[in-house]
Amino acid sequence: MPESEQWLELLEEKGCRITEPRRTIVDLMVHSDNALSPIDLFDKARASFPKMGLVTVYRTLEILNQLGLVERVHQKGGCHMYLRAANGHEHIMLCTRCGQAAYFHGDDLGALIHKINSESGFLIQEHWLQLHGLCKNCQ
Ligand SMILES: [Zn+2]
Ligand SMILES: [Zn+2]
Repeated sequence: MPESEQWLELLEEKGCRITEPRRTIVDLMVHSDNALSPIDLFDKARASFPKMGLVTVYRTLEILNQLGLVERVHQKGGCHMYLRAANGHEHIMLCTRCGQAAYFHGDDLGALIHKINSESGFLIQEHWLQLHGLCKNCQ
């Protein structure tokens, strides 16, 4: 089954009605290597559905995020973009100029987290790491 069909099935199980605009949003997210803001997605989807509502975009992204299918990418200034979720424990690198995003794994924060645990008395249970910079094309 194509990945977008799997996503649509999961959406349906969440009680989401599968409409053509929704199908388009899912298709765009599944096939995008770049992180997309809701407005980016809205503009792209409106090419096929001029009557698409921005609320549909936000609502669909919210549910995809709850399902763990897309991940929020944080930007300076507090806006969010969205990217297909990683496989397993990976972190996002984001190009601050063009929005290209990629996952990497292999962070070794174990020793640092252990040190912080014992110094602060906090019990650290998870971490979130995102790198910002310029992709090859934008340097
Ligand atoms: Zn770039
Ligand atoms: Zn990590």
